[in-house]
Amino acid sequence: MNSVDTEKYSLPVRYGPEMRILIVGGGIAGLTLTALLEQRGFKPTLVERIPEYGSVGYVIVLWPSGSRILKGLGIYRDLLDVGLQFTTYNVSDQKGQMIHAYSVKDVVDKYGPMLSTYRPDLIEVLRKAVGPNSIRMNTTVDRIEQTNDEVYVTFSDGTQDTFDLVVGCDGVRSKTRELVFGDIPLTYSGMTGWSFWVKPNIAKTREIKEYWGTGKFFGIWPTKGRLSVFTSIRKEDQGPDQVESRIDRIQDNFKDFGGLVPDILEGLDDPNEIFHGYYNDLKMKKWHKGRVVLVGDAAHAILPTAGGGVSMAMESAAVLADELTRADSKYIEQTFDIYMSRRRSRVGKIQDQSRMMGKFAFADNRYISSARDFLMKFYSNRLHARYWDTMLKEPM
Ligand SMILES: Cc1cc2nc3c(=O)[nH]c(=O)nc-3n(C[C@H](O)[C@H](O)[C@H](O)COP(=O)(O)OP(=O)(O)OC[C@H]3O[C@@H](n4cnc5c(N)ncnc54)[C@H](O)[C@@H]3O)c2cc1C
Repeated sequence: MNSVDTEKYSLPVRYGPEMRILIVGGGIAGLTLTALLEQRGFKPTLVERIPEYGSVGYVIVLWPSGSRILKGLGIYRDLLDVGLQFTTYNVSDQKGQMIHAYSVKDVVDKYGPMLSTYRPDLIEVLRKAVGPNSIRMNTTVDRIEQTNDEVYVTFSDGTQDTFDLVVGCDGVRSKTRELVFGDIPLTYSGMTGWSFWVKPNIAKTREIKEYWGTGKFFGIWPTKGRLSVFTSIRKEDQGPDQVESRIDRIQDNFKDFGGLVPDILEGLDDPNEIFHGYYNDLKMKKWHKGRVVLVGDAAHAILPTAGGGVSMAMESAAVLADELTRADSKYIEQTFDIYMSRRRSRVGKIQDQSRMMGKFAFADNRYISSARDFLMKFYSNRLHARYWDTMLKEPM
C-alpha cells in the first residue's frame, strides 16, 4: 500500500504518547527523537545495529540551530563540556598562504556557540537524555510490512512486533528506506576523502585551518584534546580504496601543500586508522510511505562540505517529535505530510549550499581556483556573517 486510507482504518485510535513507535537507528537523529519523545511521555522502541557504541568517529561541527535542541533536553551543559567553541575559520591556499581569517564572533554573539565535538562524545551526551533501557543494541529490521492499520516488523533476532508507525533514522545507507521505498540511488558528488587523527606532538592548533587547492582540500579541525584532518579530492568513480596503500595515496595527493600539511603527512603511520568515504547526498520526493517515515541522513543526506548534516538531522527529529505530540494513529500520514512540509525547503537549501561549497572549495581547474583564491580576499567578515544568517535565521 502507498498511503493510509483513513476510511478503511478499523482499530481503536491511539492518541499522541499512546502510539506504538519503532525508531530504527540510534545515531544522531534516532537518539534525539527518542529523547524528545520520552520527555513527552511516549515510549518508543529504539533499535541500533551495532553491538555497542565505540570510539569510531570524526569531528562534528554543530551549528547553534542544532545544538539548541539539547537545551530543552537538559544536556546542553554536557555538550559545552565536551565541545570546543571555535572563533576563527582560516582559509589558506595550498601553499599555506593565508587567504582570509574569518571571525565567527558576530555569528556566535547572535546565535550561540559553534561547537566542534568528537562524534562519540556527542553520542554519549545524547544518550544521557534517553532512558537507560531504551535502546535494543545489536538489532536491526529484517522485514517491514504494513496495512492501512499497522506495521508488522521482523527483527534480526527473529522476534516480531506490531507498531502504529516506524521511523527510519538509520543513516545514509538506510535499510528501512530500502525495505519500504526500494532502491533509491544516492547522488555522488565526485568527491572522496580520508579523515584521520593527528598525533599531539606533530601539530597543535585550536583554530580551524583549511588549505584549498585545485580539486583538492585539506582541512584541520580541532576539538577538545584532539586534532582531526579531513582531506578530499575529486574522483570520477567510486572504486575500492585499498587500505595498505592509503598513506601513499594521501601523501602523493597533498605533496605540494604547505603550512602544517607536510608535517602531518610525515606523521602518518597506520593506514587502519584512516577513515575513507565517498561523499553522496540524497534528495527524495517524499520522506514517508504509509506508516513509515524517514529522518536525518536516511531522508536527506547532506554533503559534509558545509558541515550541516548533524544539525539538520537534529532539527528534523525535533520537528517530527513536535508533530507527533499532536498526532494520532488514524491520521498519521497527514502528520508526516506536515513534518515534511516544515522541513523540506530548509533542508533543500542547506543541501544546495553544501553542493555549492563543494564546487567552490574543490574547483578543479587551475585558473578557476586561482580566481577563487583572489576573490576570497574580498569576501569580508560581514559577507561571511550574512552567509551564516541564511543558514541559521530560518525557523525549523
Ligand atoms: C567524514 C565526515 C565528516 C562529517 N562532518 C560533519 C560535520 O562536521 N558536521 C555535521 O553536521 N555533519 C557532518 N557529517 C555528516 C553527519 O555525520 C551526518 O549528517 C549525521 O550523522 C546524520 O545523522 P543520522 O542520525 O541521520 O545518521 P547517523 O549519525 O549515521 O546514524 C545512523 C545510526 O543508525 C545505525 N544503523 C545503520 N543501519 C542500521 C540498521 N539497519 N538498523 C539499525 N541501526 C542502523 C548506525 O549504526 C547509526 O548509529 C560528516 C560526515 C562524514 C562522513
